[in-house]
Amino acid sequence: MAVGLPQEAQSILVEEMVLNGEWNGTYIQAFLPNEIVEQILLHDIPRDSGSDVPTWRYTENGEFSLKSAYELLNEVSHPSQSHPLWKKIWKIPAMQRVRSFFWLVGHGRLLTNMERHRRHMTAVSGCQICGGDGESVTHVLRDCPYARDVWSTFLENEEDEKFFSPDMTSWMMHYLSGKRVNLDPSLFAVVCWLLWKNRNTFVFEEKLAAASQIQGAARRIHHQIVEALKRDPMTRGEHMSGEWRSVGWEFPPAGWSCINTDGSVALSSQSATAGGVVRHDHGRFLGAFVMNLGGGTITRAELMGIRQGLQRAWDLGVRKAVLRSDSKSAVELIASATTSSPHFQLVSQVRRLINQEWEVRVEHTYREGNVVADYLASTGYNLPVGVHMISVPNPMLQHWLLFDLVGSVTPRFIYQ
Ligand SMILES: [Zn+2]
Repeated sequence: MAVGLPQEAQSILVEEMVLNGEWNGTYIQAFLPNEIVEQILLHDIPRDSGSDVPTWRYTENGEFSLKSAYELLNEVSHPSQSHPLWKKIWKIPAMQRVRSFFWLVGHGRLLTNMERHRRHMTAVSGCQICGGDGESVTHVLRDCPYARDVWSTFLENEEDEKFFSPDMTSWMMHYLSGKRVNLDPSLFAVVCWLLWKNRNTFVFEEKLAAASQIQGAARRIHHQIVEALKRDPMTRGEHMSGEWRSVGWEFPPAGWSCINTDGSVALSSQSATAGGVVRHDHGRFLGAFVMNLGGGTITRAELMGIRQGLQRAWDLGVRKAVLRSDSKSAVELIASATTSSPHFQLVSQVRRLINQEWEVRVEHTYREGNVVADYLASTGYNLPVGVHMISVPNPMLQHWLLFDLVGSVTPRFIYQ
């Protein structure tokens, strides 16, 4: 995922980059695209204690250069996996998304207002739900009066204070270990995850669910997990053969654009959606779309998303594109020569689009590398049936675009 650094920027030194101990965003902005500036601002300025001159350990002479910072940003981080908490996180009996969420929590990667404020991304550092000071991870997941309200139903009174006092790591260790009868690791994890999701919906879309709705949703999801575990002990995370890998969005090669698409089907309501996003090589947003398909199978939804994604990219003037879908079967259908598939017509249309005068590669990606398209598809259920074009990202979409841009990776267990 290496990205190129403009020639004129390669010899810039720390004095020019830092103003009063903080990144000088305005200065950096003068010669780098905005999305790259955001990546840089997300990283702390390294400081050498005992000296008021910042030094930089990633070059041989200790002099900071933008080039070395850039190379650092391009590394995929492989954090220490020795703390017992990681083992707990990987074995959370819940959906992969919930484990990914805890992985972000454990790495301090959750962009709470305190974190965003520290990184000069927002003027607000407090909690927008209760109006309290300092929206930290602990506040969102536990100490906010709103979160306390949600937890109250799962706690027995005498243990309340024990629940609300430990530091974040001990708190997660304790409750992911299943020390509570009424609050097993899966329920605990699901409640935390829902609290964060709900916080985002409030911050970005100004909708706040009642505490009882979060409680109900948590119990429903927990029930489904318990049932799934009875059927398939594999999901318990035991007896698995394979390895953990960090998966994230990958920048397309220089000069290429990336199309990510996703399809989704709601089991309960017989409805289907698709979504997709087109980005240029540095991650620059070109356009997106959301479709409410009314109904249909998951493979059809995936293929409809792929067809629309190709069309949208073509219309945007893209002539070199990597298309990434997290549907293995859709990708295989496009690559195969079969004429017997029920989706033959749709596949033929996709192939016709690919065979226009441009270069297109079709690749499979994991869901963790496809979060923007995944988010877009999930919004389709609330829209009228049809195709909805997006030219300007709303705050929630910006949040997910930034998630990819800063090189966020989440762990995924790859079966072997
Ligand atoms: Zn609060």
